[in-house]
Amino acid sequence: MSGAVVIAGAGQAGLQVAASLRAGGFAGEIVLVGEEPRLPYQRPPLSKAYLKADAGLETLLLKPEAFYEANRIETRLGTRVASIDRTNRRVALSSGDDLSYEWLVLATGARNRLPPIGGVSRPNVHALRDAGEAERLRAALVEGARLVVVGGGFIGLEVAASARARGLRVTVLEGAARLMGRVVSPVLSEFFLEAHRAMGTDVRLGASVATIEGEGEGASGDATGVRLADGTVIPADLVLMATGVVPNDEMAAEAGLATRGGVQVDAFMTTEDPAIFAIGDCAVFESPFADGPVRLESVQNAIDQAKCVAARILGGTAPYRSVPWFWSDQGSFKLQIAGITTGADHVHLSGSREAGRLVAYCFRGEKLLGIETVNRPGEHMLGRRILEGDLKVLRSDVSADDFDLKRHLAELSPAR
Ligand SMILES: Cc1cc2nc3c(=O)[nH]c(=O)nc-3n(C[C@H](O)[C@H](O)[C@H](O)COP(=O)(O)OP(=O)(O)OC[C@H]3O[C@@H](n4cnc5c(N)ncnc54)[C@H](O)[C@@H]3O)c2cc1C
Repeated sequence: MSGAVVIAGAGQAGLQVAASLRAGGFAGEIVLVGEEPRLPYQRPPLSKAYLKADAGLETLLLKPEAFYEANRIETRLGTRVASIDRTNRRVALSSGDDLSYEWLVLATGARNRLPPIGGVSRPNVHALRDAGEAERLRAALVEGARLVVVGGGFIGLEVAASARARGLRVTVLEGAARLMGRVVSPVLSEFFLEAHRAMGTDVRLGASVATIEGEGEGASGDATGVRLADGTVIPADLVLMATGVVPNDEMAAEAGLATRGGVQVDAFMTTEDPAIFAIGDCAVFESPFADGPVRLESVQNAIDQAKCVAARILGGTAPYRSVPWFWSDQGSFKLQIAGITTGADHVHLSGSREAGRLVAYCFRGEKLLGIETVNRPGEHMLGRRILEGDLKVLRSDVSADDFDLKRHLAELSPAR
C-alpha cells in the first residue's frame, strides 16, 4: 500500500492513524492536517493536572516534534480541511492548497455545545475543549474567586474539583436530577454528589439556567452571576459552560456522506465511500457493547478506532470491536468505567463508600453491561478482561457476601 493518506484533524485519533500506519510499514505519503496551531496533544489533563499546576502546554504533546520528521508525517497545522471532492479524491484546505488522497481519514473531533441562553459570549464565560481555552481558564482560576460551572458531567466536575484545589469557591449547576446521568449508574452519581459536596462545592441539581447576567450593554461586559429559571441568581467571577459537545460532521455531510449526530461508519470505520474513514469523537458506529449506534468521547475509542483504520489501510480484515472504557479524575477519586453501562436495570454495589473505594456491577437482566469503579484500578482491568473475553459474571455471583472478582475469575471455567 503506497497511496497518500490525508488525515483531517490532528488530535488523538488523527495522530494515532499516522503513527500506526508507519509502525505497520506503510510506505506512502501521510499528511496530517490540523486546524489548531499546535502539534497533537493530550486533552484529558486540560481539566485536571494542567489546571492545578503551572506546567507548560508543551508537556502535553503526544509526540515530540522530531517524531513527525523521523516518521515522514507531514503536518499542516493552523489549517482546516475545508471541503472534500470525492469524485477526484481531493481535499481543499483553508490555506488555498489542495491535496489528493487515496484514503481520507476524518478525525475532526467535536466542539463545545453552548446552550442558546443570553450571556454565553461574555468575556469571563469559559468553555473547555482545547489548549487555548485551558490556558485562558487556568489564568482565571484565582484563589477566592467564585466559579460557577454549568453542567455536572465529567468535564464540569473535573474542573470543579481542580478549582477547589486552587482555593476557588465553586458552584455546579446541573439541570438533571443527578450528576453524570448520561454515563454512570445512579449509585455512583450519588457517591460523587456527596464527594463534591464534601470537597466544599455547592452542587445544585435540577437547576435550569435561564441567563448569564453581567455588566455592560448587551453581553459585552463580564458575567456577574448566573440566573436560574426560578429567579435565583448565583454570583460569579467566572463561569464555565461544560454543557457537552457537538461532533464536527458538517464537512462529511456536505460531501454527501451519511451523518446522524456524527459521521456514520460501518464496523471497519468506513463511511459510505470506501476511500473515506471516520474515527474518534466525530464518528457514529454500531458497537457490540451498545444497543444502537453510538458516538463515544474517549481516548480509548480514538486510539483503538485509529488502529483499526490503519490496519484496514494496510490490508487487514478485522472489524472494530474493542471494549469501551473511560476514566475521570475528580479530586482524590479515580472513576473508571469498563463497558457502556447506560441501560442497566440492576446495579450491585460493593466496597466502601467511607473509604472511597467502590465497584458497581451493572446488569441488564443477567447480562453484565459493565463495571464502574472508584479507586479500584485492579477491578477495572478485570472488568475489561471480562467484557473482552465473554466470560460470564452472573448477578447471583456478585451478590454473594464473600464475592471476590479476582478469585471468581480464577475459578471460572472456560465453558461458562
Ligand atoms: C477537557 C477534556 C478532558 C477530557 N478528559 C478525558 C478523560 O479523562 N478520559 C478520556 O478518555 N477522554 C477524555 N476526554 C476526551 C478525549 O480527549 C477525546 O475523546 C479525544 O481527544 C478524541 O480524539 P479525536 O482525535 O477524535 O478528537 P480531538 O482530540 O478533538 O481532535 C480533533 C482535531 O481536529 C481538528 N479539526 C476539526 N475539524 C477540522 C478540519 N476540518 N480540518 C482540520 N482539523 C480539524 C480539531 O481542531 C481538533 O484539533 C477529554 C476531553 C476534554 C476536552
